[in-house]
Amino acid sequence: MIGVTILGATGSIGVNTLDVISRHRDRFSVIALTANRNVKSLAQQCLDWLPRYAVMADESCAERLQKILQDKGADTEVLAGSEGLQLVARHKETDYVMAAIVGAAGLLPTLAAAEAGKRILLANKESLVMSGQLFIDAVREHQAELLPIDSEHNAIFQCMPSAFKEGFKKSGVSRILLTASGGPFRTTPLNELYKVTPDQACAHPNWVMGRKISVDSATMMNKGLEVIEACWLFNTTPDHVQVVLHPQSVIHSMVEYIDGSVLGQLSNPDMRTPIAYALAWPERLQAGVDRLDLFDIARLDFEPPDLERFPCLRLAREAMQLGGTATAILNAANEIAVEEFLNGHIRFTNIAEVVETTLAHVPHRAASTLEIILADDVAAREYARNMVQELAA
Ligand code: NAD
Ligand code: MG
Repeated sequence: MIGVTILGATGSIGVNTLDVISRHRDRFSVIALTANRNVKSLAQQCLDWLPRYAVMADESCAERLQKILQDKGADTEVLAGSEGLQLVARHKETDYVMAAIVGAAGLLPTLAAAEAGKRILLANKESLVMSGQLFIDAVREHQAELLPIDSEHNAIFQCMPSAFKEGFKKSGVSRILLTASGGPFRTTPLNELYKVTPDQACAHPNWVMGRKISVDSATMMNKGLEVIEACWLFNTTPDHVQVVLHPQSVIHSMVEYIDGSVLGQLSNPDMRTPIAYALAWPERLQAGVDRLDLFDIARLDFEPPDLERFPCLRLAREAMQLGGTATAILNAANEIAVEEFLNGHIRFTNIAEVVETTLAHVPHRAASTLEIILADDVAAREYARNMVQELAA
């Protein structure tokens, strides 16, 4: 039995992971489930799965969960806070860690999993964007296995598994073609973008996801973060990653080789496919996903991304070129801007402005230690919050 810990179990990726595991109860057992504040959902998941541990990031929520589980006679041990998340990520019974917390909060527990040499199923791209080389070094040093869950990176991995070990150049790869749907505003007139609402931004045409990544998909910051993620995962530079708009979200990304071959991975847009691939790798598992009906799809379209419409894509590339803590600063500013947009305090078009100004004003430096990365993350959040207050006034 493989012991699985799911960080962010109540979210969109967490729920899909449990769905895949539920089809293979003979193969996987759930060691720990975690959530931020959603007591009701985590309590139900604990009653369904009887994990050894449950962790709530919020202390008072942990107390409420403990009481519910006690009343129901479940003997799951309840832990709280970042220490609790790190403890279950490192735990000796945990073989695989699904890193599916959203945002910077995922960094410490995901890093703990790397340092404990676990197989990491990485959905939490923000942790890699923040800590880059430090994270990759921890994976190498402790012989952890890092498998991408992000559908694009999972597709790339499927199209060049050898490049993971041997590197981009040795495998004869010339470029990554990172596909993007373009989100809900691909064709919205530019002069109407300032008035789009959080609900419109979260209504993704092809995927059902958490609200933060949905807004990131609408601004295409998500694709920008994914360019950075691809550079770290596949040991390459942004000029070897071409973003391709592909509105149908059927091809999840492609790899171009020096002999002219292009390999792509196709499937219905359903996160259970990359989750099952990473859980089973190098084997394959039944994931409950419908077979792809090419006759129904009939056509696939491609177009270049419009950087005037999607300035966040340009900003992410710029941050990666700057290097060091610039990508942590970009990520932190974006998290604040997205949160404040979702709270109705700033406009959709302010998100890129907040990120651009923060990146220009908060100095970046070599990301040599975790302390430096976390300090620059805090500085960027503070700068972005002040800017939001001015914009909202
Ligand atoms: P979500 O909002 O649906 O779920 C987030 C989970 O993280 C929840 O369980 C929540 O309780 C937990 N969480 C939130 N804040 C936390 C905190 N401060 N401390 C501890 N736990 C916290 O998000 P999601 O859509 O499942 O996305 C999760 C991650 O996966 C993100 O990094 C996202 O970019 C990535 N991802 C998601 C998808 C998708 O299809 N949903 C696809 C690719 C990548
Ligand atoms: Mg993705």
